[in-house]
Amino acid sequence: MKKIEHIGIAVKDLEKSNELFAALLGEEHYKIEEVVSEFVKTSFFKVGENKIELLEATSEQSAIAKFIEKKGEGIHHIAFDVEDIEAEMLRLKNLGFRLLNETPKKGADNKLVCFIHPKSANGVLVELCQEIKTLQECEGK
Ligand code: ZN
Repeated sequence: MKKIEHIGIAVKDLEKSNELFAALLGEEHYKIEEVVSEFVKTSFFKVGENKIELLEATSEQSAIAKFIEKKGEGIHHIAFDVEDIEAEMLRLKNLGFRLLNETPKKGADNKLVCFIHPKSANGVLVELCQEIKTLQECEGK
């Protein structure tokens, strides 16, 4: 793993939280992106080398809606930047970690992502993410 790519925070109201985090970080978000397949709307802030991702549910079936219902707003996941997501998924699977998706899927911010079940990581939802470099890598995933 290369570095912490971003920390994901579940919020109820993206617009309000964008203002709050802009005030907190002293900088506006640099993008808003909806991930239709995951029923979330996200916004991203840069903090030096790292990012903060705010996530708002767009539907009740969203994992974010369920998270907020159970635990309230707050830190939802930690994402690590990886060079080769499939190699990393295989490595972790062989170590007994439970992957939430068997193949990488397209996430926000031009990334291929895979989540690791919090039950196999001390209660922390871990996201692996690999930058999509070419169109080819994106196709068929
Ligand atoms: Zn994320």
